[in-house]
Amino acid sequence: MNRGPIAEINLSALQHNLKIIKQIAKNRTVIAVVKADAYGHGAVEVSKKLVAEGVSYLAVAFTGEAKMIRDAGIDAKIIVLFDRTNISDYFKYDLIPVIHDKDIALEFSKEASTQGRPVTVHLKIDTGMGRMGFSPERAVADAIEISGMPGIKIEGLMSHFSEADLADKSYAVRQLEIFSRTQKSISEKLGYSLISHMANSAGVLSFGEALLDAVRPGLMLYGYSPFSEQYGLEPVMKVKTNILMLRDLPAEYPVSYGRTFITKRESRIAVIPTGYADGYNRLFSNNAFVLIRGKRAPVAGRVCMDITLADVTDIDGVSEGDEVVFLGRQGEDIITATELAARINTIPYDIITSLGSRARKEYLH
Ligand SMILES: *Cc1c(COP(=O)(O)O)cnc(C)c1O
Repeated sequence: MNRGPIAEINLSALQHNLKIIKQIAKNRTVIAVVKADAYGHGAVEVSKKLVAEGVSYLAVAFTGEAKMIRDAGIDAKIIVLFDRTNISDYFKYDLIPVIHDKDIALEFSKEASTQGRPVTVHLKIDTGMGRMGFSPERAVADAIEISGMPGIKIEGLMSHFSEADLADKSYAVRQLEIFSRTQKSISEKLGYSLISHMANSAGVLSFGEALLDAVRPGLMLYGYSPFSEQYGLEPVMKVKTNILMLRDLPAEYPVSYGRTFITKRESRIAVIPTGYADGYNRLFSNNAFVLIRGKRAPVAGRVCMDITLADVTDIDGVSEGDEVVFLGRQGEDIITATELAARINTIPYDIITSLGSRARKEYLH
């Protein structure tokens, strides 16, 4: 399909970011989070590269994502963070479920006897995120009970921070304390230690005590930090297309739906074949720049479904077919997901998943 933008995925940048994670995490095991199609970068290609660079654990949200990775011939361990359905797929594709309660553990135990082989699991403790997981009060008793269920091998213990990206770490510290206490009791009672992991990107970057046995970064892999400091990370995704046509409009002429942009002078407007259907948010209307010939051109008027207009009056020598960059570097300048996120009051995660998931992808090796 010849519509919409191209997301260029730079796998060397991914490799570089993994190196930075390993340095900061002092060579602990990296559980690479590739959920949501690797945050829009393409889970299969990203996973292949990460495994080639020595990553032994991947994490996805749902079993369907894990199946795609397995079908591509990747044999790393895969942790499935959220799925409670398709239990037989865990056996078929050799996946590691995160267990959030006793009932689901029982279902896995039953399926294990049906299948005639055990399943390795990680248990999740809800230390204050309030999403999924065992309550800390019950976790020790429940873990002991689950460890006795036939066909269940508990390998890991995890939790998730709700606000490790804040400068004020007091809540994250509390969550870590609860986790550490629970983890210690469980290990004592079981008589063996479990792989414990809690740190997302924010935890890796700002909370050394939370590194534990393994780290679980997503965002950092793709070249962004949840803080203003970027720690030498390199954005992996560039989203680009080409100018479809140029319009020379007189002064006082309205541009796009609702006449929210009126030319102040004779203006040259670039018509760009990417819109909100491609994940370029409509809130970028009159509120962002694109790069053309290495310069910033302001988005003029409302972003449409398939088209965005940009004012290129101040850029010399613009031609139809010129490259337009929505996200990433062109020449000396760069538009980051952090910049775009700040413009529309969201987070870089939202920008890269929206743009990346809909674009055709090209991989630079
Ligand atoms: C998404 C996710 C991560 C990764 O978070 P980042 O902020 O992208 O590093 C880690 N753990 C869990 C449980 C997640 O859902």
